[in-house]
Amino acid sequence: MFPEIPSEYLARLRWPDGFVCPKCGSADYWRTGAGLWMCRGCSRRTSVTAGTIFDRTRTPLRTWFAAVWFVTAQKNGVSALGLQRVLGLKSYETAWAWMHKLRRAMVRPDREMLSGLVEVDESFIGGVHRGMPGVGSDKISVLIAAEHLDHNRIGRIRLEPGPADGRLALVKFGQRVVAPGSTIRTDGARQLRRFANLGYNHEYFTQLGSDVPAMSTCPQFTWPRLSSSAGSTALCTKASPGNSWPYYLDEFTFRFNCRTSASRGLLFYRLLQQCTNTDPVPLKNLVSSSSAN
Ligand SMILES: [Zn+2]
Repeated sequence: MFPEIPSEYLARLRWPDGFVCPKCGSADYWRTGAGLWMCRGCSRRTSVTAGTIFDRTRTPLRTWFAAVWFVTAQKNGVSALGLQRVLGLKSYETAWAWMHKLRRAMVRPDREMLSGLVEVDESFIGGVHRGMPGVGSDKISVLIAAEHLDHNRIGRIRLEPGPADGRLALVKFGQRVVAPGSTIRTDGARQLRRFANLGYNHEYFTQLGSDVPAMSTCPQFTWPRLSSSAGSTALCTKASPGNSWPYYLDEFTFRFNCRTSASRGLLFYRLLQQCTNTDPVPLKNLVSSSSAN
């Protein structure tokens, strides 16, 4: 699959403008016999995988690349078991840890904020009861921000797990993911009107001739449209209060935001690049933070 040496390929993704020493910032280096980058300024040795999700991996990078390739090829999400089978990994635990590392990388920590016209909303998914969604049911709250483009198209999205009553959380979420100066569209709930005082244009629909929000007639409600896209069924079945839940949201977000990338190679490239920009998480942290599942 890869004609070139994986570490050299990774180096170009990680340092597109050339190597820079993480300690002193010097761009002057020489390569050691062990394939490290040795800074001429401060003599620090740097491995291309240090500080990425591949940090201290004992598995060949080629196998990691195969994992990224497999993950980006599946439209409906990947299970750890599927990954274990395809790669021939010995332990399920390893496959599981890899899945979660890759999911973390799917959403870069430094990603750009949404802008333009952005709908901010909350929805409730999953759960076993058929009653009304909302506070008190066992459905899971999801905070949603979605760019609305021309011709009724949805642009990029952000999803986060929300608390049971997410209105105030929704305001904080909006501030985190939407660039100031953008127009935020909501259902007009009272708490959400404070967006207008936080540097945004706030837009909501009212019932004709009154100031009462027309929540039920909001024409652009986003979740029904997201939930008809690939992978949403898997997302809903995974919805649980467990600590792994945010990872599934991240995976869904990555796939949704890349849904128009026709080229599988481009997805591979993008996820691998994000892997080099994502801090490593030791396996024990992954396991302990997800022990609720
Ligand atoms: Zn240096």
